[in-house]
Amino acid sequence: MSKETLFYAEVILPLPFSVTFTYLIPSDMEDLVKRGMRVIVPFGKKKIYAGVVDGIHNEAPIHYEAKEIIDLPDSKPIFTAQQLDFLKWMANYYMAGIGDALYAALPAGLKVSSESMLQLHPDYDLSSAEGSLPERELSVLMNLAEKGNLSFDEVAAISHLKNPYPVIKALLAENAIIVFEKVKDRYSPKRIKKVRLNQRFIEDKSALKTLLDDLEKKPKQQEVILKYLREVPVFQKAELNETGLEKNRLQTEELSNSSVQTLIKNNVLEEFFIQVSRLDEINLENIPELELNAAQKTAKEEILRQMEEQDAILLHGITGSGKTAILIELIREVIDSGHQVLYLMPEIALTTQMVGRLKKHFGNDLGVYHSRFSDNERVEVWKGVLDDKLPIVAGVRSSIFLPFNNLGLIIIDEEHEASFKQYDPAPRYHARDMAMVLARFHQCKCILSSATPSIETFHNAQEGKYGLVNLKSRFGEIPLPDIQLSDVRKHKMEKKNIFNFGTELKLAIEEQLENKKQVILFQNRRGYSPYLSCEECSWIPKCESCAVSLTFHQYAGEMRCHYCGFKSNVPSHCAVCESTHLKTVGFGTERIEEEAKLLFPNARLQRMDLDTTRSKDSFQKIIDDFEARNIDILIGTQMVSKGLDFDHVSLVGVMDADHLIHFPDFRSHERAFQMLTQVSGRAGRKGDKGKVIIQTRDDSQDVLKLVKNHNYHKMFELELKERQEFFYPPYSRIINITVKSTDKLEAKKAAESLYLHLNAQLGDSIQKNPPHEPLISKIRNWYMQEILLKISKELNLQKVKQRIRKAVDLVEQDKRFKKIRIILDVDPV
Ligand code: ADP
Ligand code: ZN
Ligand code: ZN
Repeated sequence: MSKETLFYAEVILPLPFSVTFTYLIPSDMEDLVKRGMRVIVPFGKKKIYAGVVDGIHNEAPIHYEAKEIIDLPDSKPIFTAQQLDFLKWMANYYMAGIGDALYAALPAGLKVSSESMLQLHPDYDLSSAEGSLPERELSVLMNLAEKGNLSFDEVAAISHLKNPYPVIKALLAENAIIVFEKVKDRYSPKRIKKVRLNQRFIEDKSALKTLLDDLEKKPKQQEVILKYLREVPVFQKAELNETGLEKNRLQTEELSNSSVQTLIKNNVLEEFFIQVSRLDEINLENIPELELNAAQKTAKEEILRQMEEQDAILLHGITGSGKTAILIELIREVIDSGHQVLYLMPEIALTTQMVGRLKKHFGNDLGVYHSRFSDNERVEVWKGVLDDKLPIVAGVRSSIFLPFNNLGLIIIDEEHEASFKQYDPAPRYHARDMAMVLARFHQCKCILSSATPSIETFHNAQEGKYGLVNLKSRFGEIPLPDIQLSDVRKHKMEKKNIFNFGTELKLAIEEQLENKKQVILFQNRRGYSPYLSCEECSWIPKCESCAVSLTFHQYAGEMRCHYCGFKSNVPSHCAVCESTHLKTVGFGTERIEEEAKLLFPNARLQRMDLDTTRSKDSFQKIIDDFEARNIDILIGTQMVSKGLDFDHVSLVGVMDADHLIHFPDFRSHERAFQMLTQVSGRAGRKGDKGKVIIQTRDDSQDVLKLVKNHNYHKMFELELKERQEFFYPPYSRIINITVKSTDKLEAKKAAESLYLHLNAQLGDSIQKNPPHEPLISKIRNWYMQEILLKISKELNLQKVKQRIRKAVDLVEQDKRFKKIRIILDVDPV
């Protein structure tokens, strides 16, 4: 008897592991399993997951017995081979597990997982239960007998308990039930209910006439049928009946649901379902003609010319210079040549304003991949890309994971944005950098676009690693806004300050309001004030789990921690000296709103920050209202500064520039310059020259002068010099290591031990900042210590990472440190 060869699949599971797992392919699946396919597999004692096949071979695993694949949810791979290679590349680069990378890549709707369910134990004698079991348990068993199985949530509902576990435990102890896992596929296609006439009326028209006669006595039902015939004229064209009519079109106010239901029950109408797309269908009747102006035309030609030699081009164009129009034309050409385009942008910039602009040009060719979309919608974009139905995708960070198979161009808009970096969990990837790697995989070109490029990117352009194309004037030759620095310290001394509005800003706002213009006020801090403080003893309410003060939210009437979400009541008195004199210190958007209400009582105000935009459409509604000029003054955090294009904003006020500048980070000046330039760029985009007033307590600061003079190049030069002097990127690569523990001393000891291991592994070849507490030293009860490594670009990065990994492993395996977690952040921003 010959023993057949067994086949195994290497499966990546979307769990934090750096290894793949081997599963046996059942013989009836042998011809079906392919690389890139989802497979449903058991994992651990009970759980079930959807993993992705990375390869097929015939070697049994050595250390464990391979379990069998349970099921194949799809008929074909949902990942391309190239995509899997890309994921592995990324996991390796960011020192993360391949499972972490898969977790980041898979949209939630494709992450099958299992749910624990109960059923009756087959040997259990239900008749013995009555009388011997408490009421609650009994009713669970009765329900099980009736329904076959129940989820834990259903058990909770039946037994009127928040926590159903005690009941389940008791029933398990009684041997009355068994718990099993049921697979849940989270994606469900959208289906709509339709109705059509029973086929017998189509085959025999006289039957239909008889029906209508019979229904004379039932006018409501007759009206339903007549309405159907008006909408679907089957007398003229019998085939129309096949597609039928949406059921809810028959259920109007006059035509009740019950008449329709009766007709269905009597087999006159039949009900059926069809699957529809969730992505909006739009008809492009007339694609707007884009007429590039001379500068845009030159820029476009220059991009195409430089692409002959360069893989990446930086499009550096001032705010409002019309970069998007150029990009739209370039996208058109790539799509027409049969390739795909990825248009990557930061979350905050992917507004419907932007999507609307792109939709107008690309209609149904455009897919949008956004975290505000439902799981199901995202799966549909995934499948649309896989099936080549969406040649262009505009998306946020995670859209680099979509299953493209022939990318022709990647655009990274607002490339300087820090939000392209995933902060948590691993892989802590930078979508801009990974998009460029993705371009290499597809051998396609990249365009990085920004008015305020990151130092790294501009440096690459200067060094000739990227092409560089400039746009130096605004579309329509509108001059850049006039930027004025307003020193509130001087005004304060003159006692001219009214609240947090200096005289200059206040007068400027009044003038705009009189001229019926719109104003944007920028304060990058939400809440009313960043902290409260006791006037007698300086006590400050702090978060219980984080080393930060609680922010006072007046509107919600509570204190909130912006790091862990902790909320508490507003204290009425000091916890130390019991004084009732608590003062607010500093200011956030809520306070600006309150003060603006008092100063400009006739103006229509709106605040736009995380707190006012939590619900699904609220962000869009505010933007629409502002566009429609139903709002005079928009007050907001950086949400108001990104990519928005309003025609009638003539004044932008920056309430407090100083807290943007004085942030202890080597990028703080670059960031402040970018943020101030971007928010200033919202002023005067159409019509007259705009005005910007930046409030500060020290108007002699270099960054502010550079912003005032729109001098990006000087800022770049100064910053670059500092980076060189202190050996920061682009002169080095940095890796930040965080050691955290719920035990403060353990975090400190483990970090010190790691530092010694790093020294042993890496010697002096690498600059290391000894362990130190980060600015916020505790979050969610995790105490933190950081070690910063600055790595010369001359060194072999792969080898360095291996040694770092070695040192980390040694500390993680050290029995003294049981509660630690070590987090590696490659290229932190
Ligand atoms: P940027 O992205 O460089 O800040 P935008 O692309 O938003 O600039 O362009 C600024 C404004 O000019 C927008 O309102 C845009 O609609 C308009 N615009 C730019 N180029 C054209 C063009 N070729 N034809 C018509 N309007 C244009
Ligand atoms: Zn006090
Ligand atoms: Zn907290």
